[in-house]
Amino acid sequence: MAGEPQADCLFCKIVAGDVPATVVRESETTVAFRDINPQAPTHVLVIPRAHYPDAASLAAAAPEVAADVLREAGAVAADDKVEAGGYRIVFNTGSGAGQTVFHAHAHVLGGRGLNWPPG
Ligand code: 5GP
Repeated sequence: MAGEPQADCLFCKIVAGDVPATVVRESETTVAFRDINPQAPTHVLVIPRAHYPDAASLAAAAPEVAADVLREAGAVAADDKVEAGGYRIVFNTGSGAGQTVFHAHAHVLGGRGLNWPPG
């Protein structure tokens, strides 16, 4: 069922505290933690506590939580002081675009120059 914890989902396990993570922010609906394989000085993942497989399904089912994810992404950038230099919020969607964990998550990347278009 949409939003229900999935036993085989890594990010549901992080939300539950069953897998450790370096959590930098929490809200009623979201958790933000540092990526285990950072691609920039700031590389934080912001996830909804509830399970949705990708950003589009999150936005369709719980648009207010999708907004919470975006607000928390901005707060992460402010906390890490990467706003002035610019930062990027990325939702890889589908394996062809590089999504490897099918629990919606925003990557917040900053602290270095970011090229466009992304690879
Ligand atoms: P995706 O490829 O799905 O867009 O992003 C998944 C991200 O999760 C990757 O950047 C990957 O490094 C990160 N990741 C995978 N496993 C773990 C983990 O156990 N802990 C943390 N903190 N990040 C993880």
